[in-house]
Amino acid sequence: MSTLQEVGDRESWRCWLCDEPVDSDMSVNDPRGPSIDSINTAKKGAKGKGGVERLAHRACNTRKGAVKPVVPWPDQLFVVDPAPIIGVVEQLRRKGGRVAVARCPAESDAEDASAWLLDRLSRLEPDMRFDTQIDAGGGGFLLVLRA
Ligand SMILES: [Zn+2]
Repeated sequence: MSTLQEVGDRESWRCWLCDEPVDSDMSVNDPRGPSIDSINTAKKGAKGKGGVERLAHRACNTRKGAVKPVVPWPDQLFVVDPAPIIGVVEQLRRKGGRVAVARCPAESDAEDASAWLLDRLSRLEPDMRFDTQIDAGGGGFLLVLRA
């Protein structure tokens, strides 16, 4: 277990789910206040605690409850059928390779989405290296993420 200060410093006081700054001086009881999100990464049935602690706004943290955490794609990007970002990252961490993450109507949309995604992942998963590829086909452009 780490203290809130340690987790906050490690995460540069930015919420791992919504990617917005977290105010370290705000009350922990405030919805926009800081909290530690404990993510269980242990395999099912494994003993002990395999987990990581990430910084989240209290509202972002408690909202996830029993459901899986969600990193939203921004509304301004023109993407069709965007993949769940955290699920894709988990898959790439386990198996590597490449995953198609979104379809875009125009190549410039795919380039915008690629730039956003790589920037977002640099904070979401600072220990992993990603790159993207844009494949034309099917009347659109497929954005592919590789690890
Ligand atoms: Zn947040």
